[in-house]
Amino acid sequence: MNETIPQLSSYDEPSLDAAFATLAAEVHTESSAPHDAEAFRLRWLGRKQGRLKLISDAWLKSAPAEARKPLGIRFNQLKQQIEAALADASASPSASAAKAGIDITLPGTVRSPGVEHPLVKTINEIVAVFHHLGYSTALGPQVESDFYNFEALNFPPNHPARDTQDTLVVAGQNDRPQRDRLLMRTHTSPVQIRTMIAQAPPVRIVVPGKVHRNDAADATHSPVFHQVEGLCVDTNITFSDLKGTLDHAMKALFGSAVKTRFFPSFFPFTEPSADVQISCIFCAGKGCRKCKQSGWIELLGCGMVDPAVFASVTAERRKINPADDAYNPERITGFAFGMGVERIAMIQHGISDIGHFYSGDLRFLEQFS
Ligand SMILES: [Zn+2]
Repeated sequence: MNETIPQLSSYDEPSLDAAFATLAAEVHTESSAPHDAEAFRLRWLGRKQGRLKLISDAWLKSAPAEARKPLGIRFNQLKQQIEAALADASASPSASAAKAGIDITLPGTVRSPGVEHPLVKTINEIVAVFHHLGYSTALGPQVESDFYNFEALNFPPNHPARDTQDTLVVAGQNDRPQRDRLLMRTHTSPVQIRTMIAQAPPVRIVVPGKVHRNDAADATHSPVFHQVEGLCVDTNITFSDLKGTLDHAMKALFGSAVKTRFFPSFFPFTEPSADVQISCIFCAGKGCRKCKQSGWIELLGCGMVDPAVFASVTAERRKINPADDAYNPERITGFAFGMGVERIAMIQHGISDIGHFYSGDLRFLEQFS
């Protein structure tokens, strides 16, 4: 213990009073601050190295005979003060806590158990349906090149279909070739290309992720939102496989009574393409405000992979292996589909404003705990 023993300058009454007042103040300060009672006891009352013992030994040793009695009395008083502080602490923990400025009678801080954000929950539900069908999850970057986001997906430069995806581009890219220019991905579909370039068929992937578009925020639009994309490529994949897979997935997500129907549509990277509607889950198809009295809700886009997409993939794969023929559209077919996570979550939970998902308002989020 490297405690210093205070020096006693003289043994007259005023000197003793001053010296013991200093010690009493020391005891008071230590016992009022938050402290470990046992450590405090040992420090002051320890049999061999206790501060009280060391100081009294030092001071009594050189004390003149007539000073021994007043010293003894004062050491006793100091010991009583230390014991009182210890008794105080052990008799009521709240007393020492109160001294430390803590009121243990106040209710504690309630820590709510964390739960998944409703969007994460919906993503996980969708992904789980496809995992059960043997799909694996694939992910890709949110900052993409023009090639992966557009060109390889059969959106040639200046193709009008690019206008349907209001793209946020990365600044300072004009010196680069068009295909290398960076942008915020407008859909999760670039992951289809990345996966097929890296891997020969069969491919069965489901791709959840964030996408970005230059959309003004309103009740149903947000410049950042989420999609789940799916791709299945193999020999003998037909449109019936697509219909069967999505019909199963919609029943798994919205209940076995849900019906699906397919309408012709257009996407550059699928041919033929279709929009998928499900029977309204609010009115079971009778017609209500949510389905605008039609009995159907439009939910996702899909189609058979366009041979032009396989051609882009093959061109890239041939840069590594000139003889590559893994995605020959004479032998290989596939289907792809994509859905907006926010839209599905809004339907699942009856949410009217997409902004609630991003507001961070606990009154909204707590409803999903
Ligand atoms: Zn309805």
